[in-house]
Amino acid sequence: MDINLSQQDLEFRTEVREFLSSNAYKNGEDYNAWRMGWFAKAREKGGWDVPKWPTEFGGPGWTPTQHYIWEQETAEIGTPFDLPFGLGMLAPVLMNYGSKEQQDRFLPDIRDRKVNWCQGYSEPGAGSDLANLKTKAELTDDGKHYIVNGTKIWTTLAHIADWIFCLTRTSDTGKKQEGITFLLFPMKQEGVEVKPIITLGGSHTVNMVHFTDVKVPVENRVGEQDKGWTYAKGLLQHERTGLAGISRSIVALEKLKEQATSVKRGNGTLMDDPAFRTKVAELEVDLMAVEFTELRSLAAAAGGGEPGPESSILKLKGTEIQQRIQKLTVEAGGIFSAAWGAMPVGPHFARGGMSGYLSSRAYTIYGGASEVQKDVVAKNVLGIKKSTK
Ligand SMILES: Cc1cc2nc3c(=O)[nH]c(=O)nc-3n(C[C@H](O)[C@H](O)[C@H](O)COP(=O)(O)OP(=O)(O)OC[C@H]3O[C@@H](n4cnc5c(N)ncnc54)[C@H](O)[C@@H]3O)c2cc1C
Repeated sequence: MDINLSQQDLEFRTEVREFLSSNAYKNGEDYNAWRMGWFAKAREKGGWDVPKWPTEFGGPGWTPTQHYIWEQETAEIGTPFDLPFGLGMLAPVLMNYGSKEQQDRFLPDIRDRKVNWCQGYSEPGAGSDLANLKTKAELTDDGKHYIVNGTKIWTTLAHIADWIFCLTRTSDTGKKQEGITFLLFPMKQEGVEVKPIITLGGSHTVNMVHFTDVKVPVENRVGEQDKGWTYAKGLLQHERTGLAGISRSIVALEKLKEQATSVKRGNGTLMDDPAFRTKVAELEVDLMAVEFTELRSLAAAAGGGEPGPESSILKLKGTEIQQRIQKLTVEAGGIFSAAWGAMPVGPHFARGGMSGYLSSRAYTIYGGASEVQKDVVAKNVLGIKKSTK
C-alpha cells in the first residue's frame, strides 16, 4: 500500500533501510554475538532497540508513521529474535503503574535482554473468563510477604523464563475483577514447578506451572493490592496490538505467491489457477483493509494514548489472515505437506508449511480468543448492548 510519506519520512525510511541492511545477519556469524551487537547498535541510534518505549524511558519517540515504516521494513529484513513478555507487555505496565524503584530495578534488564519473563495469567478454570482466576496470594502476618499457591496453564516459555508476572487472588469478596493482585517473582525458586505441554505442531513452548507456598516480598507487588485487574487489562491491549502481525503478513503473502509460482499446474503454475488466485486476491483485499485499520489506530495513538478497543479488531482480523496464509501454504504444498516431520519431499516449503499451519491454530486463541474479541468489538467499538432477554 502507498501512503503519502513526507520528505522527512522518506529520509527516515532510507535511514532505517541502511541500518537494517548494514547490520543484517551474515551466514556463519555467531548468532548470539550478532544479536547482542545489533541491539547495542540500535540503542546508539537513539532508542531503536526499544522502538515502542516512550522517550522518558529511552525510546525513540517516533511518530505513528515512523512506527509504521519500522514495522514494514523490519518485516522485510528481520530483526534479532526477541520475546514480547518483558519488552512489550510488562514494561508498559511498570512504566504506567510500577514504583520508581521497580522501574529502576526491572526495566534496564528487560532492555538489555538479560532477563526472560513469562506471563502467568491463564489458569485451568480461567482463560477467556480471566477474572475467575484462583491462584491465591496470602499476606503473611508481618505484612512482608505474599505466599502464593495455585496453578497457571499455557505459560509460554515458562521453562526458560527467569521471572514471571503473575495475576493472583488476594480477596474473594465483591466482584471477581476486584481482589486481583499483580505480582512479580523469580521462576527458579522453591515451590515453582514447570511441566511441559507438547502442542499439535510437536513443539514445547507452553507449560503448566504449579506454585506451592512460593514466597514473594511485598515490594514485588505492582501497584495496589486488589487492583491488579486494571493493570492486567492495559497489558492485554498492548499484547493484542502486537499479535496482529500485519507487516509480517504482507511479507508472508508475497512469499506465498512466489511459492505458488514455483508449483507446476497444467501448462502453467498454481498461481495461474483461477480458484487459487481468487483465494490469494481475497486475502490481499482483506489484508489491505486491516492495514488501513492499523494506520487509523496508529494515527489515533499519535497523541501518546494507550491502545484502545480497536486493538481487538486488529487482533481478530490480523490473526485470521495469518491462519489463511498458512492454510494456503499447505494447499500450495499439496500432498507433500502431509509428510511434515518425515524426510523432506516435494516443494521446499511443504515441510515447514504444515508445522506453521498447525501452530497457527493457536493464533486465534491466545491473547484472547476470537469470540471474545468479537464481544469487545460489539460492546466497545460498535456500542451494541447485551440483550436482556
Ligand atoms: C499457544 C498458546 C500460548 C499461550 N500462552 C499464554 C501465556 O504465555 N500466558 C497466559 O497466561 N496464557 C497463555 N495462553 C492462554 C490463552 O490466553 C487462553 O488459551 C485463552 O485466553 C483462551 O482461554 P481457554 O484456553 O481457557 O479457553 P476458554 O476460555 O475455555 O474458551 C473455550 C472456547 O469458548 C469460547 N468462549 C469463551 N468465552 C466466550 C464468550 N464469552 N463468548 C463466546 N465464546 C466464548 C472461546 O472463544 C473458545 O473457543 C496461551 C494459549 C495458547 C494456545
